[in-house]
Amino acid sequence: MASVDEHLSTVLGLVGNTPVERIPVADCLGLAIAEDLRSPIALPPFDNSAMDGYAVRARDIRDAPVELPVTDDIPAGKTELSELAPGTTQRIMTGAPVPPGADAVVQVELTDGGVDRVLINGEVEPGMHIRRAGEDVQVGDIVLHAGAELGPAQLGLAAAVGAGELPVRRRPRVLVLSTGSELVAAGNPLLPGQIYESNGVMLAAAIRATGALAEVLSFVPDDVDAFHAALADRLDSADLIVTSGGVSAGAYEVVKDAFTGNGVEFRKVAMQPGMPQGAGNYRGVPVVTLPGNPVSAQVSFEVFLRPALRSAMGHAVIQRPTRSAVITQALHSPPGRRQFRRGRLDHAAGTVDLVGGPGSHLLSALAVANCLVVVPEGVGEVAAGDSVTVVGLDA
Ligand code: AMP
Ligand code: MG
Repeated sequence: MASVDEHLSTVLGLVGNTPVERIPVADCLGLAIAEDLRSPIALPPFDNSAMDGYAVRARDIRDAPVELPVTDDIPAGKTELSELAPGTTQRIMTGAPVPPGADAVVQVELTDGGVDRVLINGEVEPGMHIRRAGEDVQVGDIVLHAGAELGPAQLGLAAAVGAGELPVRRRPRVLVLSTGSELVAAGNPLLPGQIYESNGVMLAAAIRATGALAEVLSFVPDDVDAFHAALADRLDSADLIVTSGGVSAGAYEVVKDAFTGNGVEFRKVAMQPGMPQGAGNYRGVPVVTLPGNPVSAQVSFEVFLRPALRSAMGHAVIQRPTRSAVITQALHSPPGRRQFRRGRLDHAAGTVDLVGGPGSHLLSALAVANCLVVVPEGVGEVAAGDSVTVVGLDA
């Protein structure tokens, strides 16, 4: 039996980095920036007002209340400025450039709001309410490091330094193929012995949530020819094939039968759920074969494929965050295997409840879980009140 870590490194090694391309900033949400982004400008780019008010020389209003002439008006976006003469003010708005000669802004609330002349009722220190050029970012600063995930704040920062496009790795194109003669598509009646196909939509969603592209092929029965036919004309455009089902120890294991001797190795991995796994290259395209039980398929995706897709897309962080939590129920884990149980983590209390049993068909429990409880290979029994490691699924 291979360890989880061994199979993870097999899968990580299979899916190479996709090429770097430059795409509009607005299309980059969730992707990783492929190169360091250096700012060509300072932020703020110029000294500007933090308040609506009046640009002044602080010493001119030291004896406030004082009335001064207002010699200019500076809305945000004004590009031509006049020097502030001693003993005068200029009306200024938030974000507008501070005129040369001014060393402070007095907020409008401390004045009568006058347009030609203004009565200023309080004094301000030199420098007050001025946001200095370069306070946030200096010219040449690396504002985003290669591998950083592009969330809303990172995209906002990229836009603020003037980037219209960012270098990211092309989204991997993943083919998803479900197998099983018992499978029926939604919308059709079920005969006894049949079930609705669900791994395709679940795995495609999981793939898309990483930022990769998923194409769900029509699922195939347990028939090797049908299996090969489903893939035949799709290989050119694929970076990865993900199958589910047909890899365990029974008869009619279509994925095993079709891929054995064709570049894909099948092995048992010391984990629960998800023991039967396969990986390799089929006609030059990386392949990962997941077990068919829905919870096994999804847990296997989390453990092996999500990190591999994030790695292919250049993320510096490929694993989800883990934390420890106090488990509220006892559990049993098979010896020598890493167990992944579904849990509900109470972030604030730091406790985790198990949802559902260990059975890998319990999809409704997976759907209310917000974490996986990870029981290491060497641990067989966990008692209520013990500290366990959990992997957040909602972070
Ligand atoms: P297998 O790995 O093909 O033996 O499948 C294991 C279990 O998962 C069986 O109960 C299958 O019916 C079920 N299963 C396999 N593929 C799917 C699928 N695409 N959607 C829902 N259930 C599936
Ligand atoms: Mg099957």
